[in-house]
Amino acid sequence: MALRLRMAKKIPKGEEYDVVIIGGGPAGLSAAIYTQRFLLKSLVVAKEIGGQLNLTDAVDDYPGLGKIRASDLVNKFKQHAEMFNATIYHPEEVTEWTRLPDGRFKVKGKRGLEVIAKTIIMAVGSVRRKLGVPGEKELAGRGVSYCSVCDAPFYAGKDAVVVVGGGDAAFEGAILLSGYVKKVYLVHRRSQFRAKPFFVEVAKSKPNIEFVLDSIVTEIKGKESVESVVVKNKNTGEVKELKVDGIFIEIGFEPPKEWFQKLGLETDQTGYIKVDEWMRTNIEGVFAAGDCTSQWLGFRQVVTAAAMGAVAAYSAYNYLVEKGWYKPSEVQVKGTIFQR
Ligand code: NAP
Repeated sequence: MALRLRMAKKIPKGEEYDVVIIGGGPAGLSAAIYTQRFLLKSLVVAKEIGGQLNLTDAVDDYPGLGKIRASDLVNKFKQHAEMFNATIYHPEEVTEWTRLPDGRFKVKGKRGLEVIAKTIIMAVGSVRRKLGVPGEKELAGRGVSYCSVCDAPFYAGKDAVVVVGGGDAAFEGAILLSGYVKKVYLVHRRSQFRAKPFFVEVAKSKPNIEFVLDSIVTEIKGKESVESVVVKNKNTGEVKELKVDGIFIEIGFEPPKEWFQKLGLETDQTGYIKVDEWMRTNIEGVFAAGDCTSQWLGFRQVVTAAAMGAVAAYSAYNYLVEKGWYKPSEVQVKGTIFQR
């Protein structure tokens, strides 16, 4: 019985929605809050609720909330979308959508979802690259972080951390962390950097940043949280164990470029969906928000993802109005809460 209660209700085949939002992270849930407030019938389809927040321990830079556990913030987003009666369907993975002759879309999922959408908001995020070494998964959120900008302040006064990577994110992270932590080891697999020369110069000028080059991380150790990181020099074979309080893995992202291109979405050269300032993609009626877009690349924050979701919702609403497809159903007004 308990199992039945926890199972998602089936969405009837062919059910029509004003907006289908693909993705259940901050961008997708923010889009759902706004589409519902525009009285659009919205469906959020998500593999998981929370997106990148599920890799984070705490958030202290979302306005108005102070410091909050990332899992609590995910629940707040979800409850907020549900307060406006958004339907959230998960776990389900959208595999394809195709345009129908009348301009609407047929959206299909891996587990049998098949619905009709007048507009689509892509908020599928992108996946942070992982090192794939022992200890990484086990200590994620307990000293293993994938976002220096998000988590650096939590390490204030700590003795040492490792930052992995040689791109802008790793350098930006190392520079930021050098203000909070006594010692920062920047571990990179080569001795050349992708990062902008400016970042490299600033990092080199910091006395507490030590470069550990031509080296790879082979293991992350710790019981309750990270205690040390094992690093191997690729040229000499020398193995070192660095005593640290945390490790920031900043080795880039992988958007599902091939899938986007198969859907006909234009991407930038790194694979992110190209959007204009109103989150419109190259396909009429399809909008995109959050980490899957090329917008504000390099500043991936919960607040920026949420902002993009809100803008995408507004654009979807305007699109429906322009098409003459906007037909808000009867609504009850309860205080400031609109319910369908
Ligand atoms: P990135 O530019 O793709 O760099 C990733 C780095 O991680 C590279 O140095 C790469 O090494 C290394 N790496 C990749 N896979 C690895 C693995 N399995 N093990 C060890 N190292 C690995 O990624 P990013 O730094 O996250 O930046 C992403 C985008 O955001 C870029 O366009 C960047 O310019 C932008 N960004 C901009 C700013 C800013 O301007 N403020 C800040 C952050 C990010 P190799 O070099 O050997 O391939």
